[in-house]
This record gives sequence, structure tokens and C-alpha cells, in this order.
Amino acid sequence: MSVPFLNFKPQHDLLREEMFKAYQMVYDSNWYIMGKCLTNFEAEYATFNDVKHAIGVSNGLDALYLGLKALNIGEGDEVIVPSNTYIATALAVSYTGAKPVFVEPNPHTYNIDPQNILKAIGPKTKAIMPVHLYGQACEMTEIMDIAKQHGLYVVEDNAQSHGATYNGKITGSFGDVNGVSFYPGKNLGALGDAGAVTTNDPEIAERIKGLRNYGSKVKYVNEEIGHNMRLDELQAAFLSVKLKHLMSFTQQRVEVAASYNEALKNVGDLILPEVHANASHVYHLYVVRTKHRDELQKHLNNDGIGTLIHYPIPPHLQQAYAHLQLQKGDFPIAEELADTSLSIPMWPGMTTEDINAVIASIKSFF
Ligand SMILES: *Cc1c(COP(=O)(O)O)cnc(C)c1O
Repeated sequence: MSVPFLNFKPQHDLLREEMFKAYQMVYDSNWYIMGKCLTNFEAEYATFNDVKHAIGVSNGLDALYLGLKALNIGEGDEVIVPSNTYIATALAVSYTGAKPVFVEPNPHTYNIDPQNILKAIGPKTKAIMPVHLYGQACEMTEIMDIAKQHGLYVVEDNAQSHGATYNGKITGSFGDVNGVSFYPGKNLGALGDAGAVTTNDPEIAERIKGLRNYGSKVKYVNEEIGHNMRLDELQAAFLSVKLKHLMSFTQQRVEVAASYNEALKNVGDLILPEVHANASHVYHLYVVRTKHRDELQKHLNNDGIGTLIHYPIPPHLQQAYAHLQLQKGDFPIAEELADTSLSIPMWPGMTTEDINAVIASIKSFF
């Protein structure tokens, strides 16, 4: 029996009729950019994310970039990012001309460590970008306190954690401005690229509405050098359908994780995900760690079980960031995570058979 790393089929079978209806509605509307579907989805997502404003944009990376730009972060500024994130977090900083400053995570939760943030703050620091990695909320109360004490902005990278909470408050609602991705494989995914900015600040919201649309709020009046980073009607309509099912899909992810947690504890040297006492986890990814990662991955692959590594090379060791002149050994926790982490199958609609096949293969390896 083979188990793919990710399978959209159960979700998409369930949503088929609603999604086709959404498609027909947009098709027949004769209006494809900046229309009612976008406005509706933005209102729905803002309600879901407990913020005053959600602004649909082209993708998660652009959402983060526009958020930083709306805070006037740029050349000469530094922005604190985790050393073990997906490179997009750092790229958003680089797009503005600012410098990403990497900070090590807590080795148990894999989320940025507030104590390490304190050590990295300098005179050029303008913002902190916590990434709620794999679906677990960062220690946001502590991070917001640090930001307040040091006069820094917070920009949450909420690409992996739709609906996660810290001390009961939802991720994407803490920061001054936050970015979320609706890449197809994310917990809330479009049928193509999509993203949104979330904020409670009406001025930031207005600025981003301009920036995503050529720097223009009134047609053919351009206030600043903007971009074409809009979310189209079709994706917005699809996202409205999927958003209604997000909580139920998240619950299914949490149940798959509970099965893995139960069956895989004390198996070999496996380290299972650890959830902070004040945080919730929406299991965008279920990441295990072992010293025998490459062999385990090969074994699972031979048994027809899909896996991925999130992420094999930390940003500071990517050629793209060679100009920062960072070396192997500079961020040992991120490097250790890159060498030992393995993501195993996780999607809503996984059957007991799927889950048991993954568990059996892992157990037979050890
Ligand atoms: C996916 C992702 C992004 C980028 O989102 P896109 O929509 O693919 O541009 C940014 N940060 C993190 C942590 C991500 O996982």
C-alpha cells in the first residue's frame, strides 16, 4: 500500500460541487480582478483571523514583503527572522533592502526563542518576524513584550499556521502587520498562488491596498511606486469555499497527529513534535527527528510512503545568502534540525489504513 506525502483528493472530492459552482459564478460574472469575490473573501478571512483587515494578495512571500514595506522598512534596517525557517521569510526582508538577522529556535518547539531574540537586537533592528513553524504558534506573548520594550514592529509569518493559537489568541492577529500564504499545500490552500496580509491598523491596510495595485487606490491615480500583487476573483471564490471547511480539516490533522503521537512514542531514537504548554498546533506538517534520517527516508520510500525534508539547507547556508558571509557552525540548532528532520504524510482525510501503513513502516525500520 502506498501513502503519498500529501493527497488533495479527499478534500477535493468533498468540495467538488461547491468549487465547481464557485468557478461557474466567476466565469459568468465577466469580472475577474478586484471584484466581489475578493471583497467577500477578505471580510470572511478577517473574521476568521480575528483582525479588522485582511487584504488578498498574490502569494505569501508578497504578503510578507508588502507588510514590511508598509512599515517603511528598507535599506540600512535589520529584521530578526528564525534561522530554521523556509527561505521566503528572509527573502521578504531582502526584497525591501533590509538585512535578515537570523536567530536560533527553541530546540524542542522549533519556534524562534524569545531569549535569543533579545541577544540579537541592535541599533538597526526594526522588526521581529516570528514564523509559526509547521503549524505551532510561537511564544507570542513573550515576543510582543520584547517588541514593546524595544520599540520594534512584529510581522508574523503565518504561512503554516492558519487557526493556531497562543494563550487562546489566533496567529496572524498579534503583529502590526502579518502575512499568510494560501499556496495549494498550505492548510488553507487555493488552486494556485494566493496570500493575504492581516492587520488591525486601518492606515497600513489602506497602504497595502494601494501597494498591491500599482500604488493606486483611484484608477489611474498613482500615489507611489506600487506592484501588481493582487489576488484574483477565481482564487478568492475558491478560498471562500475552502475557508468554511478549514476548522473541520484542521481537526482531522490534529487527529492524525494524535495517532502518530501515540504509536510512535519510544520508537528508536525518534523525537516527536513537542507542543508548548500555551500554544496550539494545527499540524501543517508532522515532523519527526532521528539521527538515522536519511536511512529512514529511504526505507519509507521503498515501502511507498512519501516524505519530505523541511528544510534540508538553512537560509544562512544557501548560496543566495553567501553575501552575509555566514558559515556552517554559526547556527548549530538550525543545522542540526536540517540534518535530522523528516516530515511524514499529513493531510485531512487520511484513513486509518494510511496512518497504520506509515506507522508500521517506521516501526519496521527501527
Ligand atoms: C509557504 C511559505 C511562505 C511563502 O508563501 P508562498 O505563498 O509560497 O509565497 C512563507 N513563509 C513560510 C514559512 C512558508 O511556509
